[in-house]
Amino acid sequence: MDRIKVEAPSASYDVVVGTGLLAQFEELAGPFLTSGRVAVVTDANVRDLHGAALERAVADAGREIAWHVVDPGEGAKSWQGLEALSDWLLEQGVTRGDHVVAFGGGVVGDLTGFAAAIHKRGCGFIQVPTTLLAHVDSSVGGKTAINSSAGKNMVGAFHQPALVIADSDCLATLPNRELRAGFAEVLKYGLLGDADFFDWCAANGAALLAGDAALRRDAVAHCVRAKASIVAADETERTGTRALLNLGHTFGHALEAATGFGDALLHGEAVALGMVLAVKYSARTGLMSENAAQHVDEAIGRAGLPTAISALDLDADGATLADLMRHDKKVVGDSIPLILLRGIGAAFMQHDIDLADVASFLDQQLQ
Ligand code: NAD
Ligand code: MG
Repeated sequence: MDRIKVEAPSASYDVVVGTGLLAQFEELAGPFLTSGRVAVVTDANVRDLHGAALERAVADAGREIAWHVVDPGEGAKSWQGLEALSDWLLEQGVTRGDHVVAFGGGVVGDLTGFAAAIHKRGCGFIQVPTTLLAHVDSSVGGKTAINSSAGKNMVGAFHQPALVIADSDCLATLPNRELRAGFAEVLKYGLLGDADFFDWCAANGAALLAGDAALRRDAVAHCVRAKASIVAADETERTGTRALLNLGHTFGHALEAATGFGDALLHGEAVALGMVLAVKYSARTGLMSENAAQHVDEAIGRAGLPTAISALDLDADGATLADLMRHDKKVVGDSIPLILLRGIGAAFMQHDIDLADVASFLDQQLQ
């Protein structure tokens, strides 16, 4: 197993990456648990597939689990979902010194982390992520949130977990489409800052997606190291370093918004399309070669991810999409900041991108 330290200004903690880790839950998480009943938040899919393994692990240490099971899907990250979870934590008598366990994908992690941030003004929590996206992205770094009528992740807090246990074996039951969507975020780490890792992903992606647990573990460990160093440098996204993780996300968000944030386009699929758009836009402005942009497009396509927005069933033109790209950026006027690339592994934030130019670029891509 790999133990990766996240040294954020507000807290430092370990991310443990490996196989067979659920069985070692007590050994890893035991020091953080103060009672014989462990409060675990999960969704119904994860409860069915992996709940028994976690129950066995804590039973060996004489503990039992109190389950709070939410419906699978983004709907749980809501005011109602938060209220139900907060009331439940109070009923369970979880103390400020205790740690709630988030056992699931990014939805469960974001909801539980936020509930922990406000439970009695803040209790601890442990992330046990079960999707590839949660392994490489959402479980590390302390961003927690729910959605509101104003949009996704609009209400939340920075609240770091005390420990993250990323068991690659959990990924064996993940539907293929979810796995590929998570792989888009893996590719993102290479594309934004590490050309060698991008090559590694291009070479090993097929075997990783097909089920090679060792490759999955290695990819997760690599991404977590990258995220740990970004979070250490810029925990609350103030200097621009952490903003690089938004590569592909501004375009992607517009596509998610245009398709209704539903099953039509998963977040990782939107990010894949967004990364292709970011490299093509970078090539169009002369920052990056057409060849390199083409290479990225092909690598993303080979992972079974979408690369062409012309293939989407979109009821939106370039101007509509460009307008959706302003979303939470509080943008006034006709320009936005955008993460662009000077090459594979060389992302940077470009301020003052002209939205009219982006709109005409998107119109070309929609052809
Ligand atoms: P998710 O939590 O909805 O999980 C996707 C699906 O996979 C669900 O149906 C779930 O029940 C199922 N599932 C989970 N683990 C499984 C397993 N091991 N086997 C079989 N099925 C399993 O989605 P996600 O992609 O993990 O996370 C998306 C959420 O994460 C979004 O709400 C997004 O805003 C958030 N997010 C947060 C951060 C952050 O930094 N906090 C970063 C990225 C994304
Ligand atoms: Mg993302």
